[in-house]
Amino acid sequence: MTVKVRFAPSPTGRIHAGNVRAALINWLFARKNQGVFVLRIDDTDLERSTKANEDLIETDLTWLGLEWQERYNQSKRFDIYQKAADALKADGRLYACYETAEELDRRRKVQLSRGLPPVYDRAALKLTDEEKAAYEAEGRRPHWRFKLEGKRVAWEDLVRGHCEVDTTSMSDPVLIREDGAFLYTLPSVVDDIDMKISHVIRGEDHVANTGTQIEIFEALSAFFGGSPLPTFAHMTLLVGADGEGLSKRLGSMSISQMREDGIEPMAITSHLAKIGTSDPLEVAPSLDALADLQDFDKMGRAPARYDFDDLMRLNAGVLQAMSYAEAQPRLAALNADLGELFWDTVKANLHKFAEVTLWAQVVGGEVETTIEDAAFAAKALELLPADYTRESWSAWTAAIKDATGAKGKALFMPLRLALTGQPHGPDMGALSFLIGRDKIAQRLQG
Ligand code: GLU
Repeated sequence: MTVKVRFAPSPTGRIHAGNVRAALINWLFARKNQGVFVLRIDDTDLERSTKANEDLIETDLTWLGLEWQERYNQSKRFDIYQKAADALKADGRLYACYETAEELDRRRKVQLSRGLPPVYDRAALKLTDEEKAAYEAEGRRPHWRFKLEGKRVAWEDLVRGHCEVDTTSMSDPVLIREDGAFLYTLPSVVDDIDMKISHVIRGEDHVANTGTQIEIFEALSAFFGGSPLPTFAHMTLLVGADGEGLSKRLGSMSISQMREDGIEPMAITSHLAKIGTSDPLEVAPSLDALADLQDFDKMGRAPARYDFDDLMRLNAGVLQAMSYAEAQPRLAALNADLGELFWDTVKANLHKFAEVTLWAQVVGGEVETTIEDAAFAAKALELLPADYTRESWSAWTAAIKDATGAKGKALFMPLRLALTGQPHGPDMGALSFLIGRDKIAQRLQG
């Protein structure tokens, strides 16, 4: 069987960590199984979908390294949805309803007041042709509901194991609105069948939909020549570090925002691939390495904890593991390419790549430094080796220690502050060599 999966974002806003996790797990699963990853833009909602959001989704996925092999817009596929809808109508599975929103609301309230579940009562099924014609004459347009069989729908979920949904307790879902617009459900099922999607991998917020969708799959199977049902995997949702749902803060976690904030793609993908699994939270060297690890058996039922501190720790890990060859173009773009020794010296001190400009300034430019004790600085200057090499730092500081009696922090902190202006930073042996004798001498004079 060819593995074929899809990521089906709605271009009604920016994509956030939760959407990207679905994209990523689909992508990794396809990669691991030499399968096909489909990008399917779920733009059936023509009013809320925008081309700008669609472009941003592509930019985000490309930036993360999640390239797709096939790409579709649902808004260009209305013909096939219409054919599927016609087949369901012919079979009596899709039926016209004329209730207004107010009428439905009133009925729901009556049901609730009687202690009944607010399930659609299928009154429209009893309409005669004359009654329908009368509604049409009034100017009403029908919306179309799918007639559920009302049964226990079961599937073996790759994450959740054996699942059952009872469609008896559900209202027949509306698949087509009064204005003729297809709601998400029908296009999604039609496309999953028509595109031969083998695995539907998505968030567990879709578990309830799956019962309905399986019934629609079954109802359309014959129309599409006996297509098999896809395998489902419903992943637990992301929660924040405090265990709360993410929805309120999703805006601040759009992928484009993270990109602007200097979060590395491999930190994001390592984090999103590993949270909610039994794998340790570490940076993976590549998406292929993450694909090798991908396994639904490692995913539990516990929510996946999206923790910004963990993400930042992984971000530092990505920078630490980055070779000079990889960093060089980015250093050059920031006007901070001071060579391989510079990069290897400072990279372990970066939380974000752009912070490298501070160290480029310390090494190659002018910085505000601090002399706390002028006599100490004068002594250090006096002892500064005439020829300052990569090895000079330890001999120089040993000589200052002997001359002043300062040791430990009292010895090193004034030197760090005088040479760099920073209380923390990279190894001073390499950094002082990079700063060079002239600048060291000049800075010790305040
Ligand atoms: N557009 C839907 C969503 O973003 C797709 C769900 C699905 O994967 O079927 O929730």
